[in-house]
Amino acid sequence: MAQVWQQPLPEIYTQLTDPELRLRIASAKETLGEKLIILGHHYQQDAVIEFADFTGDSFELSRKAADQKGIEYVVFCGVHFMAESADILTPEHVRVILPDLGAGCSMADMANLDQTLDCWAQLEETCPGQAIVPITYMNSSAAIKAFVGEHGGAVCTSSNCRNVLEWALQKRTEDSGLRTEPKNAGGKKILFFPDQHLGRNTAHAMGYPLEKMIVWDPRLDLGGNSFEQVRDATFVLWKGHCSVHQLFRPEHVDEARAKYPGIKVMVHPECRFEVVQKADYVGSTAYIVKQVEAAPPGSQWAIGTEVHLINRLRQQHPDQHISVLSDCQCLCTTMYRIDLPHLCWALENLVEGRGGNEIKVDSQTRKWATVALERMLAIKGTGSPMGKSQPVGTTVD
Ligand code: SF4
Repeated sequence: MAQVWQQPLPEIYTQLTDPELRLRIASAKETLGEKLIILGHHYQQDAVIEFADFTGDSFELSRKAADQKGIEYVVFCGVHFMAESADILTPEHVRVILPDLGAGCSMADMANLDQTLDCWAQLEETCPGQAIVPITYMNSSAAIKAFVGEHGGAVCTSSNCRNVLEWALQKRTEDSGLRTEPKNAGGKKILFFPDQHLGRNTAHAMGYPLEKMIVWDPRLDLGGNSFEQVRDATFVLWKGHCSVHQLFRPEHVDEARAKYPGIKVMVHPECRFEVVQKADYVGSTAYIVKQVEAAPPGSQWAIGTEVHLINRLRQQHPDQHISVLSDCQCLCTTMYRIDLPHLCWALENLVEGRGGNEIKVDSQTRKWATVALERMLAIKGTGSPMGKSQPVGTTVD
């Protein structure tokens, strides 16, 4: 049976100093050579990023892993759903390791398969004759991705969410090159998992009023809505959120502007609707990184995303003023569980041929999750994620 819980590390790993851990990690990495790649998510702490062969967002990293030839091991310094995606996209023989099994994602954990099946049954019963297309954000379990694949839907990222929603609403199967024809592709109702904020922000940027959206609370009958509300909604938004991005509030935008007149506010679309409405720029982590990289010296930013990424941007661009949108502890605590001791332990396990912390998606789940991912990749167009991108950079004297 697969190991589910993180076992306590052998004591030695908790006693080593950081310099000792660094030496042992570097040595294990050298021993494993080209058989290994280490992936570091943007939100990961610097001490771990130091050893990453690639850094990026979750999907970008999984694709990097899939592109590598001759590797046997992927050590994913991210969270559980990211390691699952890497396992789905890499060849069968590649072993994907998550250094701490406790590194989950609070958002992904907010939607499970039983709740989803129950929701689907209620929607089908309440809305006979309406086609419903399930769309899941990348930040979801492999089981949810597989459900979506099996029911004619697709995965999306925070970069391409708008394109995927447009595809789902506009019957674009003819040009999508799908392996399997989604029976509901002409649907006018979207079930969006698990981040209500990304769904709402994107649908609103597409021109849909908030009245066409309902929130589905999986603990309540009809998700806590009336029959008419369910029937009339275009977007059924799962009641999920990111515990990090939900910390940013509209008053933080006002405070940043009062403190630094002329500052530009840039936020991730996992932030609340009210925050996104007030922001100057909205986009994925990749978008945020690009905006800062392209901005001229003297630019001033208040950024609403995970603090490790913001701190790294600040170090990389000392000629710009870069601050966190609020002084809340905007830290992905589960990702933070992956530290030098866990990385060292995971690599030395591989060197010594010991098992542990392998993330394996079963073949049936893998099959349908792959369908959902391939649908996303087949959808044409990129464009602005929120319809709110503006000219890059703002110089403030
Ligand atoms: S930042 Fe939020 S969505 Fe991303 S891994 Fe952490 S909890 Fe999940």
